[in-house]
Amino acid sequence: MNRFPEYPQPSARIGIVGVAFDGNSSWKAGAALAPPRIRAAFFKPSSNLWTESGVDLGAPGIFADAGDISPSAGSMSTGILEAAGRLHGEGLKVMALGGDHSVSAPLVHAAADRHGPLTILHFDAHPDLYDNFEGNPESHASPFARIMENGWACRLVQVGIRTMNQHQREQARRFNVEVFGPDDLEAVRRLVFEGPVYVSLDLDCLDPSCAPGVSHQEPGGCTTREIIGIIKNLNARVVAADIVEYNPAEDMNDMTAMVAAKFLKEISAKMLERAR
Ligand code: MN
Ligand code: MN
Repeated sequence: MNRFPEYPQPSARIGIVGVAFDGNSSWKAGAALAPPRIRAAFFKPSSNLWTESGVDLGAPGIFADAGDISPSAGSMSTGILEAAGRLHGEGLKVMALGGDHSVSAPLVHAAADRHGPLTILHFDAHPDLYDNFEGNPESHASPFARIMENGWACRLVQVGIRTMNQHQREQARRFNVEVFGPDDLEAVRRLVFEGPVYVSLDLDCLDPSCAPGVSHQEPGGCTTREIIGIIKNLNARVVAADIVEYNPAEDMNDMTAMVAAKFLKEISAKMLERAR
Protein backbone atom coordinates (compact mmCIF):
# COMPACT_ATOMS: atom_id res chain seq x y z
CA MET A 1 0.00 0.00 0.00
CA ASN A 2 1.46 3.35 -0.95
CA ARG A 3 -1.57 5.56 -0.41
CA PHE A 4 -4.67 5.57 1.78
CA PRO A 5 -7.78 3.92 0.32
CA GLU A 6 -10.12 6.61 -0.92
CA TYR A 7 -13.27 7.43 1.00
CA PRO A 8 -15.80 5.81 1.09
CA GLN A 9 -14.65 2.34 2.18
CA PRO A 10 -17.40 0.13 3.59
CA SER A 11 -15.27 -1.52 6.28
CA ALA A 12 -13.05 1.42 7.25
CA ARG A 13 -12.75 2.50 10.87
CA ILE A 14 -10.76 5.71 10.63
CA GLY A 15 -11.70 8.56 8.31
CA ILE A 16 -8.86 10.86 7.31
CA VAL A 17 -9.39 14.47 6.37
CA GLY A 18 -6.62 16.87 5.43
CA VAL A 19 -7.07 20.49 6.38
CA ALA A 20 -5.18 22.86 4.09
CA PHE A 21 -5.72 26.02 6.10
CA ASP A 22 -3.45 28.49 7.88
CA GLY A 23 -5.58 31.62 7.72
CA ASN A 24 -5.69 32.02 11.50
CA SER A 25 -1.95 31.67 12.06
CA SER A 26 -0.71 34.78 13.86
CA TRP A 27 2.95 34.45 12.89
CA LYS A 28 3.89 32.39 9.83
CA ALA A 29 1.95 30.81 6.99
CA GLY A 30 2.75 27.26 5.85
CA ALA A 31 0.59 24.89 7.88
CA ALA A 32 -1.83 24.76 4.93
CA LEU A 33 0.86 22.85 3.00
CA ALA A 34 0.99 20.05 5.58
CA PRO A 35 -1.59 17.38 4.56
CA PRO A 36 0.09 15.90 1.45
CA ARG A 37 3.50 16.07 3.15
CA ILE A 38 2.28 14.08 6.16
CA ARG A 39 0.67 11.48 3.89
CA ALA A 40 3.89 11.19 1.86
CA ALA A 41 5.93 10.71 5.04
CA PHE A 42 3.49 8.04 6.24
CA PHE A 43 4.12 6.00 3.09
CA LYS A 44 7.83 6.82 2.72
CA PRO A 45 9.54 3.53 1.84
CA SER A 46 12.31 4.24 4.36
CA SER A 47 9.93 2.90 7.01
CA ASN A 48 6.98 0.51 7.11
CA LEU A 49 3.31 0.65 8.13
CA TRP A 50 3.52 -1.26 11.40
CA THR A 51 3.02 0.52 14.68
CA GLU A 52 5.25 -0.04 17.68
CA SER A 53 2.43 -1.95 19.37
CA GLY A 54 2.26 -4.41 16.48
CA VAL A 55 -0.62 -3.17 14.34
CA ASP A 56 -0.22 -3.41 10.55
CA LEU A 57 -1.77 -0.18 9.30
CA GLY A 58 -1.38 -1.43 5.74
CA ALA A 59 -4.05 -4.07 6.34
CA PRO A 60 -7.43 -3.51 4.64
CA GLY A 61 -10.41 -2.15 6.54
CA ILE A 62 -8.67 0.55 8.54
CA PHE A 63 -8.53 3.86 6.67
CA ALA A 64 -10.75 5.83 4.32
CA ASP A 65 -9.20 9.06 3.07
CA ALA A 66 -11.71 11.81 2.37
CA GLY A 67 -9.02 14.04 0.86
CA ASP A 68 -8.24 17.63 1.69
CA ILE A 69 -10.44 20.59 2.29
CA SER A 70 -9.06 24.09 1.77
CA PRO A 71 -11.64 26.44 3.21
CA SER A 72 -11.49 30.22 3.16
CA ALA A 73 -11.19 32.02 6.51
CA GLY A 74 -14.90 32.79 6.38
CA SER A 75 -15.95 29.20 5.71
CA MET A 76 -13.34 27.45 7.84
CA SER A 77 -15.61 26.48 10.73
CA THR A 78 -18.60 25.39 8.68
CA GLY A 79 -16.45 23.59 6.10
CA ILE A 80 -14.61 21.55 8.70
CA LEU A 81 -17.73 20.88 10.76
CA GLU A 82 -19.42 19.50 7.65
CA ALA A 83 -16.45 17.39 6.48
CA ALA A 84 -15.68 15.90 9.89
CA GLY A 85 -19.37 15.60 10.77
CA ARG A 86 -19.99 13.45 7.70
CA LEU A 87 -17.26 10.99 8.75
CA HIS A 88 -18.46 10.88 12.36
CA GLY A 89 -22.01 10.36 11.11
CA GLU A 90 -20.92 7.13 9.46
CA GLY A 91 -19.43 5.83 12.67
CA LEU A 92 -15.82 6.46 11.67
CA LYS A 93 -13.21 7.78 14.01
CA VAL A 94 -11.77 10.96 12.55
CA MET A 95 -8.11 11.77 12.00
CA ALA A 96 -7.46 15.33 10.81
CA LEU A 97 -4.09 16.20 9.30
CA GLY A 98 -2.59 19.65 8.92
CA GLY A 99 -3.65 23.22 9.39
CA ASP A 100 -3.02 25.81 12.03
CA HIS A 101 -4.50 25.04 15.44
CA SER A 102 -7.69 27.06 14.86
CA VAL A 103 -9.03 24.06 12.93
CA SER A 104 -9.40 22.11 16.17
CA ALA A 105 -12.43 24.14 17.30
CA PRO A 106 -14.76 22.87 14.54
CA LEU A 107 -13.11 19.44 14.61
CA VAL A 108 -13.90 19.09 18.32
CA HIS A 109 -17.37 20.52 17.69
CA ALA A 110 -18.04 17.79 15.13
CA ALA A 111 -16.79 15.07 17.49
CA ALA A 112 -18.91 16.41 20.35
CA ASP A 113 -22.02 16.45 18.14
CA ARG A 114 -21.50 12.72 17.67
CA HIS A 115 -20.16 11.62 21.07
CA GLY A 116 -21.22 14.30 23.57
CA PRO A 117 -18.85 16.46 25.62
CA LEU A 118 -15.31 15.16 25.29
CA THR A 119 -12.15 14.88 27.29
CA ILE A 120 -9.38 16.54 25.31
CA LEU A 121 -5.76 15.49 25.59
CA HIS A 122 -3.96 18.48 24.11
CA PHE A 123 -0.21 18.45 23.40
CA ASP A 124 1.27 21.90 22.81
CA ALA A 125 3.94 24.39 23.87
CA HIS A 126 1.08 26.90 24.09
CA PRO A 127 -2.22 26.75 25.99
CA ASP A 128 -4.13 28.39 23.07
CA LEU A 129 -6.63 29.83 25.56
CA TYR A 130 -6.60 33.50 24.53
CA ASP A 131 -10.02 35.06 24.62
CA ASN A 132 -8.84 36.59 21.36
CA PHE A 133 -5.38 37.11 19.92
CA GLU A 134 -4.69 40.48 18.32
CA GLY A 135 -8.43 40.93 17.89
CA ASN A 136 -9.10 37.53 16.30
CA PRO A 137 -11.29 35.21 18.42
CA GLU A 138 -10.71 32.45 15.83
CA SER A 139 -6.92 32.75 16.11
CA HIS A 140 -4.83 29.60 16.39
CA ALA A 141 -4.03 30.96 19.87
CA SER A 142 -7.71 30.74 20.92
CA PRO A 143 -9.36 27.42 19.93
CA PHE A 144 -9.52 25.96 23.43
CA ALA A 145 -11.26 29.06 24.77
CA ARG A 146 -13.97 28.60 22.13
CA ILE A 147 -14.19 24.86 22.79
CA MET A 148 -14.64 25.26 26.54
CA GLU A 149 -17.12 28.16 26.22
CA ASN A 150 -19.28 26.08 23.90
CA GLY A 151 -19.26 23.03 26.16
CA TRP A 152 -17.82 20.75 23.46
CA ALA A 153 -15.39 19.42 26.08
CA CYS A 154 -16.01 18.67 29.73
CA ARG A 155 -12.32 18.23 30.55
CA LEU A 156 -9.17 19.70 29.04
CA VAL A 157 -5.75 18.21 29.80
CA GLN A 158 -2.80 20.13 28.36
CA VAL A 159 0.67 18.59 28.06
CA GLY A 160 4.00 20.25 27.20
CA ILE A 161 2.86 23.79 28.05
CA ARG A 162 5.73 26.27 28.56
CA THR A 163 4.46 29.70 27.49
CA MET A 164 1.76 30.59 30.05
CA ASN A 165 1.20 34.30 30.59
CA GLN A 166 -1.09 35.99 33.12
CA HIS A 167 -4.15 36.14 30.83
CA GLN A 168 -3.87 32.48 29.90
CA ARG A 169 -3.35 31.47 33.55
CA GLU A 170 -6.65 33.19 34.31
CA GLN A 171 -8.31 31.46 31.37
CA ALA A 172 -6.94 28.08 32.52
CA ARG A 173 -8.45 28.65 35.97
CA ARG A 174 -11.73 29.79 34.42
CA PHE A 175 -12.06 26.57 32.43
CA ASN A 176 -10.53 24.25 35.07
CA VAL A 177 -7.80 23.21 32.68
CA GLU A 178 -5.31 20.61 33.90
CA VAL A 179 -1.94 21.96 32.77
CA PHE A 180 1.24 19.85 32.66
CA GLY A 181 4.62 21.21 31.60
CA PRO A 182 7.42 19.18 30.01
CA ASP A 183 8.73 18.40 33.53
CA ASP A 184 5.39 16.86 34.59
CA LEU A 185 5.13 13.91 32.20
CA GLU A 186 5.18 11.24 34.90
CA ALA A 187 1.99 12.74 36.32
CA VAL A 188 0.43 12.68 32.85
CA ARG A 189 1.09 8.96 32.59
CA ARG A 190 -0.90 8.39 35.78
CA LEU A 191 -4.04 10.22 34.58
CA VAL A 192 -7.26 8.26 34.24
CA PHE A 193 -9.51 9.02 31.27
CA GLU A 194 -13.20 8.24 31.10
CA GLY A 195 -15.62 8.65 28.21
CA PRO A 196 -14.75 9.70 24.68
CA VAL A 197 -11.30 11.28 24.25
CA TYR A 198 -10.10 13.69 21.58
CA VAL A 199 -6.32 13.96 21.02
CA SER A 200 -5.11 17.32 19.69
CA LEU A 201 -1.43 17.28 18.85
CA ASP A 202 0.31 20.56 18.07
CA LEU A 203 3.78 19.57 16.89
CA ASP A 204 5.39 22.46 18.74
CA CYS A 205 4.79 20.52 21.97
CA LEU A 206 8.05 18.87 20.94
CA ASP A 207 11.43 20.41 21.39
CA PRO A 208 12.50 22.14 18.14
CA SER A 209 15.42 19.69 17.97
CA CYS A 210 12.83 16.93 17.44
CA ALA A 211 10.43 18.95 15.28
CA PRO A 212 11.91 22.07 13.68
CA GLY A 213 9.13 22.35 11.09
CA VAL A 214 6.67 24.45 13.07
CA SER A 215 5.73 28.12 12.97
CA HIS A 216 6.45 28.80 16.64
CA GLN A 217 9.64 27.03 17.74
CA GLU A 218 9.68 26.97 21.54
CA PRO A 219 12.81 25.51 23.15
CA GLY A 220 12.64 23.20 26.14
CA GLY A 221 9.97 20.90 24.80
CA CYS A 222 9.18 17.20 24.98
CA THR A 223 10.98 14.56 22.98
CA THR A 224 9.29 12.48 20.30
CA ARG A 225 9.90 9.43 22.49
CA GLU A 226 8.15 10.99 25.49
CA ILE A 227 5.00 11.84 23.54
CA ILE A 228 4.87 8.41 21.88
CA GLY A 229 5.20 6.87 25.34
CA ILE A 230 2.24 8.86 26.64
CA ILE A 231 0.10 7.91 23.63
CA LYS A 232 0.95 4.21 23.86
CA ASN A 233 0.30 4.22 27.61
CA LEU A 234 -3.10 5.87 27.18
CA ASN A 235 -6.02 3.82 28.48
CA ALA A 236 -8.78 5.69 26.68
CA ARG A 237 -11.46 5.53 24.02
CA VAL A 238 -9.97 7.87 21.41
CA VAL A 239 -12.73 8.91 19.00
CA ALA A 240 -10.96 11.65 17.06
CA ALA A 241 -7.61 13.37 16.74
CA ASP A 242 -5.78 16.11 14.92
CA ILE A 243 -2.11 16.64 14.10
CA VAL A 244 -1.65 20.35 13.51
CA GLU A 245 0.86 23.18 13.10
CA TYR A 246 3.24 21.23 10.88
CA ASN A 247 4.86 23.88 8.70
CA PRO A 248 6.77 22.32 5.76
CA ALA A 249 8.29 25.71 4.91
CA GLU A 250 10.21 25.57 8.20
CA ASP A 251 11.17 21.89 8.04
CA MET A 252 14.58 20.32 7.44
CA ASN A 253 14.85 17.16 5.31
CA ASP A 254 11.17 16.37 6.04
CA MET A 255 12.16 15.32 9.54
CA THR A 256 9.09 16.93 11.14
CA ALA A 257 6.86 15.33 8.50
CA MET A 258 8.25 11.98 9.61
CA VAL A 259 7.48 12.84 13.23
CA ALA A 260 3.93 13.79 12.26
CA ALA A 261 3.56 10.51 10.37
CA LYS A 262 4.88 8.58 13.38
CA PHE A 263 2.23 10.17 15.59
CA LEU A 264 -0.37 9.40 12.93
CA LYS A 265 0.61 5.73 13.22
CA GLU A 266 0.61 5.51 16.99
CA ILE A 267 -2.62 7.50 17.49
CA SER A 268 -4.32 5.35 14.82
CA ALA A 269 -3.27 2.21 16.70
CA LYS A 270 -4.76 3.68 19.86
CA MET A 271 -8.04 4.43 18.04
CA LEU A 272 -8.21 0.83 16.81
CA GLU A 273 -7.93 -0.58 20.35
CA ARG A 274 -11.57 0.27 21.07
CA ALA A 275 -14.41 -0.44 18.72
CA ARG A 276 -16.34 2.81 18.84
MN1 MN B 1 -1.49 25.11 19.39
MN1 MN C 1 1.70 25.60 19.78
